[in-house]
Amino acid sequence: MNKRRLGNTGLLVGEVGMGCEGFLEKTPGEVSAMIGLMEERGCNCIDLYTPNPEMRTSLGQALRGRRDRFILQAHLCTIWKDGQYKRTREIGEVKAGFVDLLTRMELSSVEIGMIHYVDSMADWDEVYNGPVMRYAQQLKADGVIEHIGLSSHNPAVARKAVESGLTEVLMFSVNPCYDLQPANEDLELLWAEQSYEKPLVNMDPEREALYEACQRMGVGITVMKAFGGGDLLDETLSPAGRALTPYQCMNYALTRPAVASVIAGARTLDELRDCLSYSDAPQERRDYAAALATFPKISWQGHCMYCGHCAPCPKGIDVASVTKFLNLCKAQGGIPETVREHYAALPQRASACVACGACEKRCPFGVPIIENMKSAAKLFGK
Ligand code: SF4
Ligand code: SF4
Repeated sequence: MNKRRLGNTGLLVGEVGMGCEGFLEKTPGEVSAMIGLMEERGCNCIDLYTPNPEMRTSLGQALRGRRDRFILQAHLCTIWKDGQYKRTREIGEVKAGFVDLLTRMELSSVEIGMIHYVDSMADWDEVYNGPVMRYAQQLKADGVIEHIGLSSHNPAVARKAVESGLTEVLMFSVNPCYDLQPANEDLELLWAEQSYEKPLVNMDPEREALYEACQRMGVGITVMKAFGGGDLLDETLSPAGRALTPYQCMNYALTRPAVASVIAGARTLDELRDCLSYSDAPQERRDYAAALATFPKISWQGHCMYCGHCAPCPKGIDVASVTKFLNLCKAQGGIPETVREHYAALPQRASACVACGACEKRCPFGVPIIENMKSAAKLFGK
């Protein structure tokens, strides 16, 4: 499986990660078989949001002897109460919940301590100024967590958390429908019929600004809700009115700036095999551009989706990457050092463009690629 850098953490994560829901209600042997398959295929990032005690115990047993081959994204602020999951900011409960995770899973530390589900500004203020962030920082200072993360569905809150400088990993909901919708504290509105009644044009600027901030600040994104809870795979349920395939959804998320891993879900070994086969799938099966271009009432005309549908360029230019770096600089009003480095590492620069137009003919979104290549060559000086 392809590995990607998780922002500036120094961690390398498989581009497909796994959520923990599929381990629920499984015997320890079944969980162990799933972990074995993940290990074999290089799927090394596991998100641990559920505080379900049996799941924690089974997973802990399954990781015996191979713990160091996995990167664990363990959530703070989730506890098990009265037989079910509960989100809490009460610091006594938060601490007890995290100790329970470490104990049941036989762990001394985890790579990412993820502050769970911060969707409103008031909640962010409480987390940031209160004991939860201090506890996360203490865990980090003690070496119990290596990096502080935060999960959110709200781009405005997520950006605030990223720009605080304290969040090193962001778990964020990324899919082509959410990306059209403005920031909102009400998660329901992201999928509500009324939010899709009027024609929608291009990605919401606040979401673009979030991706740009993550890329600029070296905050790696792990993705949740890439399939919109499964609705995006069914045209009768998708708010876009057209179905996408799992590979198309995963590729969409993986082509957003700063995204390192898509956290998928699998309830059986066969489903797990399907998810993990993404990395071996041919580009035609991952390509989402043509499908997105058929969404009724939704248009990305003139807007680069970083889909790569315009490839190959006879001069070897990676048009999607060049355009991504150009847009990051435009959003930032200058060239961030990391972007300059990434651009310099490209096998071919925008100045190699001979304006043949082959890419523009293939772009389903009418992006002025030749013009963009000229702008990039001018901006980066090559
Ligand atoms: S220029 Fe068009 S085809 Fe190429 S990556 Fe951007 S949106 Fe996709
Ligand atoms: S117009 Fe430029 S970027 Fe596009 S295919 Fe031709 S050489 Fe490549």
